[in-house]
Amino acid sequence: MSHRFSKRRDWFVCHDLGDGIRHIEEPFYHADYRCNIFLIEGEKFDVVIDSGLGVASLREFLRPWSENPTLIASHGHYDHLGSNWEFENRWAHAGEADILAHPTRENTYADPVLKTADFCALPWDGFDANDWQPRAAPATRILQDGEILDLGNRSLEVIHAPGHSWGLICLWDAQNRALFSTDAVYDGEIFDFLPCSDVPTYIETMKKLRALPVEVAYPCHNQILDGERFRAVIDAYLETK
Ligand SMILES: [Zn+2]
Ligand SMILES: [Zn+2]
Repeated sequence: MSHRFSKRRDWFVCHDLGDGIRHIEEPFYHADYRCNIFLIEGEKFDVVIDSGLGVASLREFLRPWSENPTLIASHGHYDHLGSNWEFENRWAHAGEADILAHPTRENTYADPVLKTADFCALPWDGFDANDWQPRAAPATRILQDGEILDLGNRSLEVIHAPGHSWGLICLWDAQNRALFSTDAVYDGEIFDFLPCSDVPTYIETMKKLRALPVEVAYPCHNQILDGERFRAVIDAYLETK
């Protein structure tokens, strides 16, 4: 299958957060929906968490820093999985395996969320969000809750964090007290109302994550959170439930 990529060199921007962590985003897509992608440098292997819309080559963009990162798919929503297929190693929780292997506009929520009007610049002339199609990229390894991924200089614990979607995972760097909180905890409206969501399960996930001694959280939406803000987001959610 041929895949159309933007020729724009500025489709992605990369913010070097230091300590071997890079934050990549797609600035021309609406800030409320765009996905924060994180590249984490490891001595043994590099990890990229999620891959954005897939309208430009993320693999090429990352090449100056990482030749062949392992893609960890937090879950199977359209704004997160677009370039998953570009990576050879794709790790995910079993709860998302079916969507990652058989993604559609409907089960990734591109339909109805992805709209051309939500781009302030288009990846190419004539781009129409209605034509966007996800590409199948089955997980090559299934991750278990509690599994430790040893990158050499850093360890990441897989935390199953269902509620937003069934197989959502976060990654916990206990040594640095840093949580890659994906679509579980972020500043902004909490999406617990999707067909794949479950509020009682989400509440349990929020409580579990609140118990971690988080000093910094890297969510897949909106700004990076310090520990205080991270806990405030969780408390605000739990208060409404
Ligand atoms: Zn999501
Ligand atoms: Zn998302």
